[in-house]
Amino acid sequence: MSLDDDVRFLPGVGPRKAADLARLGIRTIGDLLLHYPRDYFDARHVTPIGDLRPGETATVLGTVRTLGERKLRARRSMVSALLEDETGAVPLVWFNQPWVAGQLPRGGRLRAIGAVSRFQGRIQLSPSEFDVVEEAEGEIAAAGLLPIYPLTGNVSQKALRGWTRTALDRLGRVEDPLPEDLRREQDLPPLGVALAELHWPESPLARDRARRRFAWEELFWWELRLALKAVERRRPESGIAMGAEGEIVPRVGRALPFELTRAQRRTLSEIYRDMRATRPMNRLIQGDVGSGKTVVALLALLRAIESGYQGALMAPTEILAEQHARTIGRLLGDAPVQAALLTGSVGGKSRARIAAGLAEGAIDLAIGTHALIQEGVEFRRLGLAIIDEQHRFGVAQRLALTRKGAVPDVLVMTATPIPRSLALTFYGDLDVSRIDEMPPGRKPVATRVIGERQRDRLYGFLAERLAAGEQGYVVYPLIEESEATDLKDATSGYEALAERFPSARVALLHGRVPPEEKDRVMRAFAAGEVDLLVATTVIEVGVDVANATFMVVEHAERFGLSQLHQLRGRVGRGERAAYCFLMISPEAGAHARERARVLASTHDGFVIAEEDFRLRGQGDVFGTRQHGTPDFRIADLERDVDLLAAARDAAFDLVDGDPVLERPENAPIRRWLDRLAARDADLARQG
Ligand code: ADP
Ligand code: MG
Repeated sequence: MSLDDDVRFLPGVGPRKAADLARLGIRTIGDLLLHYPRDYFDARHVTPIGDLRPGETATVLGTVRTLGERKLRARRSMVSALLEDETGAVPLVWFNQPWVAGQLPRGGRLRAIGAVSRFQGRIQLSPSEFDVVEEAEGEIAAAGLLPIYPLTGNVSQKALRGWTRTALDRLGRVEDPLPEDLRREQDLPPLGVALAELHWPESPLARDRARRRFAWEELFWWELRLALKAVERRRPESGIAMGAEGEIVPRVGRALPFELTRAQRRTLSEIYRDMRATRPMNRLIQGDVGSGKTVVALLALLRAIESGYQGALMAPTEILAEQHARTIGRLLGDAPVQAALLTGSVGGKSRARIAAGLAEGAIDLAIGTHALIQEGVEFRRLGLAIIDEQHRFGVAQRLALTRKGAVPDVLVMTATPIPRSLALTFYGDLDVSRIDEMPPGRKPVATRVIGERQRDRLYGFLAERLAAGEQGYVVYPLIEESEATDLKDATSGYEALAERFPSARVALLHGRVPPEEKDRVMRAFAAGEVDLLVATTVIEVGVDVANATFMVVEHAERFGLSQLHQLRGRVGRGERAAYCFLMISPEAGAHARERARVLASTHDGFVIAEEDFRLRGQGDVFGTRQHGTPDFRIADLERDVDLLAAARDAAFDLVDGDPVLERPENAPIRRWLDRLAARDADLARQG
């Protein structure tokens, strides 16, 4: 058996199971073995139930006696099971996971790992993982570490464990993509060994060794692609050289309602210099919320258009794409530019018309969302692609847009300053411009961290602001698609506020409001027809209203610092003093307040990003965890900073010695890169 064999070569995998596995991204034996365990049970360290102590994390194994399911208040629910062994019995409890009930075998044997706590005087355990034990007694102790895989749908842990076992047993010699020298230098086990040790380790030490290899490798492939791209870019003839300045940029520039800041002008001249060169531009603009990236983007796009090319601007949400289209429409005035908005909600005839316009070249400028990179959208002469709020897009998507043109110039804009330790990793192939100056007249937003006890005073203050004709936001935590409870928070908050401020016009906005309604509410707020906007983070990047002077964030402890900073950037855009209140709930604890105070003490997005990263790790900073982009599946940039440095050096060294990887000894590396590229293309098609 080889890594490229179809999973159907495995006993017990027919067409149905193969389809289930495909949903996990598993098509070949290689995919199966690179489906990393999420965690392990340590079958050798089972705690007798009678010995459980609150505060510890323990693995228990016993027989399920009674099962219970209860509805709690506010749409919360609890599943419980009494687990018994020779030494005692303990309730296992799951909150808000009603489906667990169907997976628990009454009278059957169950293994669980989780935190032990005391509730109303009794010991209980909240499993983070559990599985039904079907092995015989003797096998259980012999198992050592048992892999726990990420699962969906109809694939069980037991089945997956069986398949990885079988695959490893039958696997022939595997070709290691990493040359032996490199492996030895980095002290990494060979691929075959590492696979066996990752899935079925004999000890935690063996598992860590295997994990280290795959984490290193993951970072290495990433860095290698950056290194190869950097080589590509050094080839001067591969891109588009835009011609001399034309008519449109000066015309629109003269009509702007403000003077560009020095930072905007500097950034723009860096962009223009890149655009004139034949070398394709790959530039990142970092600029805090409100620093004025949009107008810079527009002036860059116009430069491409007056040189006879098309431009594209891609935003992460429909609201933002729509706002860009409006802003740009306004700034364009009657300049001779054909612009079109293409989002998921543009359908049927309009969509076909726009697609045709882009393909023929009748449309100069496309503003949109993911819809721009979907199949069926082709550009005749794409010269510049701009991606706003880069961190929300996966890398695959960034590549997909740039593939729409021969080798278009690429500009990436982000309002989340990237911690320095990550900048090279994520943007190592990009040149960086920083808009590090705010347009004149911006005042810092007075930021206060408050608690429940100050709510009355807060409402008194809001009443004054509203009476003065000012507007504001009350923001609730993100809606998790599967969690009805948070949605209710925003909705009931809306009702309570409407009651509390009877003379104010209060509106509600969240991710499930239909697009037309969303747009209507936003327009009304911008026009001053709504005083108080109760919302989820859909407003994070969406709204720009100068008369909005205050923001209240409920459950501020549930947001990342960078996200709070972005939210706060929605106020203080006008002349009047602006306020941000971060409401921390009583359960959140003292450190949540401490964390939020970082925002009260600084407006520097870079400082905030560093702190956010330190506290929460890369997934949250980049939003990948929420968006499920599988950029790094096993490496963890916080924990693996040293591995990253090593992998980066190794990758750049390799490319220094063999710029296009043509040496025979590097052929396995080349093949592996192709395999990864195929997988990315696959993901881009799906997403
Ligand atoms: P962001 O960088 O967050 O995308 P925007 O591009 O939305 O910021 O700009 C924020 C606001 O500042 C907009 O209302 C824009 O019109 C305004 N603006 C941009 N540049 C300037 C400038 N040089 N002087 C004054 N206002 C500006
Ligand atoms: Mg912007």
